[in-house]
Amino acid sequence: MPTYEFLCNKCGKEFFRIMSMKERETAKVKCEHCGAEDVTPLLSTVITKTSRKS
Ligand SMILES: [Zn+2]
Repeated sequence: MPTYEFLCNKCGKEFFRIMSMKERETAKVKCEHCGAEDVTPLLSTVITKTSRKS
């Protein structure tokens, strides 16, 4: 299964989750660090240059 990268909007940390595409669409992703559900999925296809919005 593909690995997806997420950015937590609460603590500002990035983390990875391995999940199916269906899971990604339906499942609630929680931040590994603080448990917040306010996370932004980062596209792995453009992982090389990620522009952060602060
Ligand atoms: Zn967090």
